[in-house]
Amino acid sequence: MTTQFEPVIGLEIHVQLASKTKLFCACPNGVGEDTKPNTAICPVCAGHPGVMPVLTEGALSLAVRAGLSMNCVTNRRSTFSRKHYFYPDLPKGYQITQYDEPINGAGYIEITFGPKDNLQKKKIGIHHAHLEEDAAKSSHFADYSLVDYNRAGSPLLEIVSMPDMRSPDEAYAYLTEIKRLMRWVGASNCDMEKGELRVDVNVSLRPVGQEKFGTRAEIKNLNSFKAVKDALTYEINRQTEILNGGGQVKQETRLWDKEELVTKPMRSKEDALDYRYFPEPDLPPVVLAEEWLENVKKTMPELPASKEARFEKAGLSAYDAGVLTSSREISDYFEEVTKSGKVSLKTASNWIQTDLLGMLNAEKKEIQDSPIPAARLAELLEMAESGKINRKQAREVFDEIWKTGEAPAAVVEKRGMVQVSDEGQLEEWAKAAIAANPKAVADYQKGNKAAIGALVGGVMKMSKGKANPRIISQMLGKLLG
Ligand code: ADP
Ligand code: MG
Ligand code: ZN
Repeated sequence: MTTQFEPVIGLEIHVQLASKTKLFCACPNGVGEDTKPNTAICPVCAGHPGVMPVLTEGALSLAVRAGLSMNCVTNRRSTFSRKHYFYPDLPKGYQITQYDEPINGAGYIEITFGPKDNLQKKKIGIHHAHLEEDAAKSSHFADYSLVDYNRAGSPLLEIVSMPDMRSPDEAYAYLTEIKRLMRWVGASNCDMEKGELRVDVNVSLRPVGQEKFGTRAEIKNLNSFKAVKDALTYEINRQTEILNGGGQVKQETRLWDKEELVTKPMRSKEDALDYRYFPEPDLPPVVLAEEWLENVKKTMPELPASKEARFEKAGLSAYDAGVLTSSREISDYFEEVTKSGKVSLKTASNWIQTDLLGMLNAEKKEIQDSPIPAARLAELLEMAESGKINRKQAREVFDEIWKTGEAPAAVVEKRGMVQVSDEGQLEEWAKAAIAANPKAVADYQKGNKAAIGALVGGVMKMSKGKANPRIISQMLGKLLG
């Protein structure tokens, strides 16, 4: 007999803060691949002896914003420590990191997961989120290695979750939410390809119904959401087999091999490094003035969960509200389109999701660079809602103004697109369509109501798309009895 196991998952995420400067010096932060190696450095971030680190306010305030977005307690006092280890990408021989007194204490975020039409929500605890400096970047070749210190000293926020997740899907949803929040408050761009978000996952199994956690494995340095999901799925299967075979899971650190799609041991708990943490003598405790903190809070935007709840309350489905708050810019765009009250939320939601985001994705553009600004889409949708033009015509106008940047009204005018709602003309077309398609008529009268679609299509063709399809189908229904 095999036991049923439940996975227990906790994540440690490093995000690179989007501050202008590094954590302890005025060097530019996040310069990227196109900057020459080892040019964005100074004696502080290059780890020369005797230099003095100075905490930069930009990084600190982004860390606090990030914490507030995750409902964390902002600690009025926090400190830095030295974490010792030797590696060429760490010239000082120690990393400056917050250890026992982090800037952000406990908090939580709410994740959304499950099928589109049955979304579930769940709170995941945040244990704490602390500041630390990044190491340099090494590249290894066959017989030599290179180190680029441009990244050394960049500010990282390490976000440590509580072991509250129970499936790879929940872990995926957690990552999605962390990324949305960090971008929303401007704390980090979270571009995984640039290494701005890096993930370690911890996973253990316990028999269903047991409270005590099992022994965990930690999988380090996953650099895509998919890798996180795949590594967790693999690791859950691996541990299930061990436990069902009567064995025991070893507490160890493992690595994800993205070629072979397996996790491999890296080091066991017995080889755990002793980092010999001690308080950083060159940095005084960070003590926040209430006024400073109030100022940071004042510049916080409305958070996505709050907007999402508002959109749902106004009548959108949970799924739609989620898509429309997937970024702050999309949510602002949606609100701009609907603010006049003349475009229904559902109409705006459909157009933004299907038409606008579809085109933007195809052209790899962000909504803030949309060739159709929100005010223009609002104008177009108002014409469609009032019945001046129909859906099909509206899409034609959409495509045209996407290319030309013209005003929607000008395109409607130029193309002579006004919709025909004149009953006499419509009735004439409806009768002609009935005469031309006896099969659809017979089907309809046998009870196949969908057959009316072919007749509406006939009228649309005769009218060159100018008939009002809603009035047409009502009229056809009446004529057919
Ligand atoms: P360490 O400092 O050794 O990395 P922590 O106690 O700080 O250990 O926990 C690191 C992460 O591991 C946290 O996200 C936590 O939620 C998670 N975690 C702790 N215990 C377990 C467990 N038994 N199973 C799964 N995850 C766990
Ligand atoms: Mg850890
Ligand atoms: Zn520097």
